[in-house]
Amino acid sequence: MKKYEFWFVVGSQFLYGPEVLKTVEQRAQEMAAELSKALPYPLVYKVTAKTNKEISDVVKEANYRDECAGIVTWCHTFSPSKMWINGLASLQKPYCHLATQYNKEIPNDEIDMDFMNLNQAAHGDREHGFIAARLRMPRKVIAGYWQDEKVHKRLGDWMKAAVGVAVSKEMKVMRFGDNMREVAVTEGDKVEVQAKLGWQVNTWAVGDLVKEMNAVTDAEIDALYNEYLKSYDLNTGNTAAIRYQAREEIAIKRMMDREGCRAFSNTFQDLYGMEQLPGLASQHLMAQGYGYGGEGDWKVSAMTAILKAMGEGGNGASGFMEDYTYHLVEGQEYSLGAHMLEVCPSLASDTPRIETHHLGIGMNEKDPARLVFEGKAGKGIVVSLIDMGGRLRLIVQDIEAVKPIMPMPNLPVARVMWRALPDLTTGVECWITAGGAHHTVLSYDVTAEQMRDWARMMDIEYVHIGADTTPEKLEEELLIKDLVWKLK
Ligand code: MN
Repeated sequence: MKKYEFWFVVGSQFLYGPEVLKTVEQRAQEMAAELSKALPYPLVYKVTAKTNKEISDVVKEANYRDECAGIVTWCHTFSPSKMWINGLASLQKPYCHLATQYNKEIPNDEIDMDFMNLNQAAHGDREHGFIAARLRMPRKVIAGYWQDEKVHKRLGDWMKAAVGVAVSKEMKVMRFGDNMREVAVTEGDKVEVQAKLGWQVNTWAVGDLVKEMNAVTDAEIDALYNEYLKSYDLNTGNTAAIRYQAREEIAIKRMMDREGCRAFSNTFQDLYGMEQLPGLASQHLMAQGYGYGGEGDWKVSAMTAILKAMGEGGNGASGFMEDYTYHLVEGQEYSLGAHMLEVCPSLASDTPRIETHHLGIGMNEKDPARLVFEGKAGKGIVVSLIDMGGRLRLIVQDIEAVKPIMPMPNLPVARVMWRALPDLTTGVECWITAGGAHHTVLSYDVTAEQMRDWARMMDIEYVHIGADTTPEKLEEELLIKDLVWKLK
């Protein structure tokens, strides 16, 4: 995983004299160093900017440096904002305005006009906020005391969303086979997606993968097989099926790494020369941070990789998911999510079991090995990116996952059970009204606010379905957004 950092850019002006500016600089350095200890990525102090050129220079460098995933600005003192226009107008990296203050309290005895002139973020941050609003800059505003844990959490969450932007801009998706025949929601304009989100989505022949699979050695398969046994419980005697999945995983990973791809899709309709649909193979690749989408769904595949990168430690509890079936008993309304095989073990509540079962759908000559487990209980989101024709819409729904309320002993796949908000049936009505897909990314550690930040930075439509959503309000929102996005 790449190392990312964020740059701390502090605004001021010469009017205060060298002594005040020195104090501002020392404090900004101290704040960046202290904040870095509490944040998921380092916050590197760059400059106390006093001129148009200093701001333009630091923005140019931020744009150019791959490791810089965004800038965080703050005005300890007043920083006249016309000097920010040229820099901000050329900014290509995520931007967060941290409206904070060095001191926590107003010191009753000490406060005089010198103190006021040094500690005037309330003043300076308003001037700074105006110019960003005036320039229509997509930005995050976080207000609060810089040593407050809530501020750390919010700034940290924004940083992770900004890393999601960096990952998106470099995203390469490897497609094996096309989208499943006749399916609409998995389609999309790849040229538009590349222009907007940066994704390079291209196809490779299944025959190339089979060639790569044939070149995998027994020793390589032994090593990965042993890794499977270390990570998972064995619940099948079909060693050959597991070894075949290892062969598939090694070959897919090799092809992706060679091309710099971070996500892949395949389809059960196109497995020429393969004995099994990759199940365990795809699941173990997802566990390593790769994105996956079934039935040729390259959009959900890339989104899976992005949400994983936005999660804890740069590879969080997020995975490819599909809404399968409902439990509609009053008071116990739940969705049951799963997939044919490919559910990411980062969603598991316990150690996954390796099993082999018959898979009727597709072209499997042999029973594919897969990981079977129950999903964790807890709050989460499901995310769907759809192509509305001319623009992309990101739909995010809050969910509450539960331990599956029944064991389902004959279900041969991993499963997650959840209640969509505001409640299952209203949630379903809202999701369907917005056009959300059956494929989603389910995440336990990326929040709706982070997805809103990501959508804002990527300049795409964002629709959130949560506790307060009603179908009526949502319909109005979608109607207005439809007009706005046609004008944009
Ligand atoms: Mn599917």
